[in-house]
Amino acid sequence: MRRWNGWGDDQVDYPVPDSALDFLEKLVGKGKKQQPIELKDVVKKVQSSKLKHAHGIVLDAGERIKHSYGQSIPDWIEMRIGPLRQITDGIAYPESAEDLVYLLDHAKNNQINLIPYGGGTSVLGHITPLGEKRQNLTVDLQRMRDCIELDEESLLATFEAGITGPDIEAQLRARGYTLGHFPQSFEYSTLGGWIATRSTGQQSKYYGRIDDLFFGGKLISPVGEATVYPFPASAAGPSVKEQILGSEGRLGFITQATVKISPLPEKEEFHAVFFPNWEAGYRAVQEISQQNLQVSMLRYSDPVETETTLILAGHEILIGTLEKLISLRGVKEGKTMLLIGYTGTQADVNFTRNRSLEICRDSEGVHVGRRFGSQWHKNRFRTPYLRNTLWDYGYAIDTLETAVPWSEVNRTMNGIESSIRQAAQEYNEQVHIFTHLSHLYPTGSSIYTTYLFRINDDPVAALEFWRHMKTAASKTIVEHRGTISHQHGVGVDHKRYLVSEKSVLGYRGIKEFIDEFDPLGIMNPGKLLD
Ligand SMILES: Cc1cc2nc3c(=O)[nH]c(=O)nc-3n(C[C@H](O)[C@H](O)[C@H](O)COP(=O)(O)OP(=O)(O)OC[C@H]3O[C@@H](n4cnc5c(N)ncnc54)[C@H](O)[C@@H]3O)c2cc1C
Repeated sequence: MRRWNGWGDDQVDYPVPDSALDFLEKLVGKGKKQQPIELKDVVKKVQSSKLKHAHGIVLDAGERIKHSYGQSIPDWIEMRIGPLRQITDGIAYPESAEDLVYLLDHAKNNQINLIPYGGGTSVLGHITPLGEKRQNLTVDLQRMRDCIELDEESLLATFEAGITGPDIEAQLRARGYTLGHFPQSFEYSTLGGWIATRSTGQQSKYYGRIDDLFFGGKLISPVGEATVYPFPASAAGPSVKEQILGSEGRLGFITQATVKISPLPEKEEFHAVFFPNWEAGYRAVQEISQQNLQVSMLRYSDPVETETTLILAGHEILIGTLEKLISLRGVKEGKTMLLIGYTGTQADVNFTRNRSLEICRDSEGVHVGRRFGSQWHKNRFRTPYLRNTLWDYGYAIDTLETAVPWSEVNRTMNGIESSIRQAAQEYNEQVHIFTHLSHLYPTGSSIYTTYLFRINDDPVAALEFWRHMKTAASKTIVEHRGTISHQHGVGVDHKRYLVSEKSVLGYRGIKEFIDEFDPLGIMNPGKLLD
């Protein structure tokens, strides 16, 4: 069963070795063990629903709690320390577009806010019920998950939007295809959620972001339906498809989406290369990106992330041997790790692998083969389970991300890290921070920073401390003219930074577009913008 106040399936654990806990204690201090909270105890304390009984609307308190939180730090603080402030008033599980039209009419007539809910994996408060004035109804799209059409000639597939990653891949793989969209939240996140948040998968260098994969679809808004036909390309003015991408539930419900699919690749490999320092590997990944080599994934970790990954992996003997071997070739303390993926035909994989590894070698890289890369690939959806274990030991992990041109990458990355560190020091706390570059383009790169800190038992103090660090980092991103999000979206936590990214006029345009689709303001209010 899915955990109600953590990540993933409650039968899956991610134990950490004692050596890793010692390592964290030295860095940020000893965490205070957290007591597990039972859902049945929380249920007794929640306020009763303000919604009246209506056909197909579930008012059960446990279901309402489970649908009120995503995976952001404020969500975790409420779910794990409490108290729960505002939970949704009910949940609907539509099975068709007709059900959605019924719900929209019901909401319009009764002044109810509707919150589209895909997999609930948002890390920015996208699905949090807001506003005391109106009742909130969360609309869980999990029953809308059919494959509607597979157009093999055009390499297009149309699905209902509530379908999850594993279900899409199972259906496509049975016919010899893949969508190739693998965010780390793949297990639970949905097609509609990916489009509504402009998600990026781990192999986006080969398959593209969801922006590149989404070709058409249908959206039902409070004032009618919009259809986007899957043209291969179009010069017919501004694009409605672009407005639906990143709409975060504000325009209406994406009911179905037509996406580009690819034949299953003949070959796929993941390799690891170690570099003696950040600059050496940085030169290599920049060159690989600018030569447009068709690698499917690059993940370049800084020295701290490299060390942390190796320690948390727990295979001490294997890693000790590896470290001895690479040290003979000059790769010692301060080393960095690049994971690099190849996908495609055997011939393309051979060519890309040889050329990219040559670039790495020319930049002092030591290629260690496929073992680490294959391990990463095998465990790639398991890593988020670490958040559960570390929280139990008293440590929280948060991530934040941006993208900037190459000329700004190093400055922005260092700026983000030092702003978080400084903000933590102002609270007399230490923070463990590391960064990788994972979506690299010819003109620049995304920057993905992880920070780990001790949890305060008092929820108000815990939230205040996190917000202080998050604000410092977000302001630094804006100062460096980075986007406030390369892949997670805006939700609640980023909305105050949107205007500086879009300009006042652009921001007003987005607001007017939303008002046109939703004049009563009942679709997911308070998310993306006010
Ligand atoms: C452990 C973890 C790892 C992650 N890794 C990645 C990653 O690698 N890449 C990445 O891009 N993101 C990642 N995320 C963030 C998150 O998974 C994405 O934002 C994802 O796209 C959300 O999809 P969802 O179906 O869970 O949507 P939800 O969280 O349910 O909703 C997100 C937003 O989309 C709206 N929405 C959902 N479905 C619809 C619909 N059918 N119509 C209209 N609006 C809709 C909601 O109203 C909400 O505003 C990660 C999150 C976690 C917790």
